[in-house]
Amino acid sequence: MALYRDDGVVLRNFKLGEADRIVVLMTRNRGKVRAVAKGVRRTKSKFGARLEPGSIIHGQFYEGRNLDIVTQAETAAIYENLRTDLSRYGRAAIMLEIVDQITEDGGTQPALYKLLTGALAELDGSGNPMVVPAFVVKILVLEGVQPLLDACVNCSSKERLIAIDIRQGGVLCDDCRAGDPISDAARFALQDIFAGQVRHVLNTTDEETTIELEILASRMIEQHLERRLRSSVVVDQHLAH
Ligand SMILES: [Zn+2]
Repeated sequence: MALYRDDGVVLRNFKLGEADRIVVLMTRNRGKVRAVAKGVRRTKSKFGARLEPGSIIHGQFYEGRNLDIVTQAETAAIYENLRTDLSRYGRAAIMLEIVDQITEDGGTQPALYKLLTGALAELDGSGNPMVVPAFVVKILVLEGVQPLLDACVNCSSKERLIAIDIRQGGVLCDDCRAGDPISDAARFALQDIFAGQVRHVLNTTDEETTIELEILASRMIEQHLERRLRSSVVVDQHLAH
């Protein structure tokens, strides 16, 4: 069996048999990896504690036929606030879940790894709730999604843009409305983040707009996944004929 080392963020873990856990990690070099941590539930080991969701580890793995085995885990970064502050913890959990949802096993995604570790560090430090919507937008950019935000995707009107639907490709006017409502402030903030002005948005967004963007961010991810699923079904059907 081949041995390898990689850094990874623990996305989640779950029980396997009597004593083991399966750990799902977003790694720096190998994309999403599922690995068995043997015996971690039998002993109160530091090893097991390092494999909790949100932990970032330097890991050593054996490549298995189906599942890899994690044999060592050293803490690579300690985000104490993410563990102790409930609101930070909740937001970190949302980001871990999103990464888990949008990735398949394997396939190198260094940009996504960098994005996730950067967002966790920012959230640990500032606790800024805008980190999650900004993270979602950057994920959409990595996924090749560039919604139209300054004109209606249906009729090209630039007036009364009041709704957004990622499945349709962006915002919609009052006449064509579909998807979710969006305020001008939230729409401008999204435009800024898509344009790369993340720091500016993190520093200036008011509380009301932040709450709106947090809700919109989870909807945008849902809509994106729905659209991706539909297009992959179309591709599968196409290949089947
Ligand atoms: Zn329209």
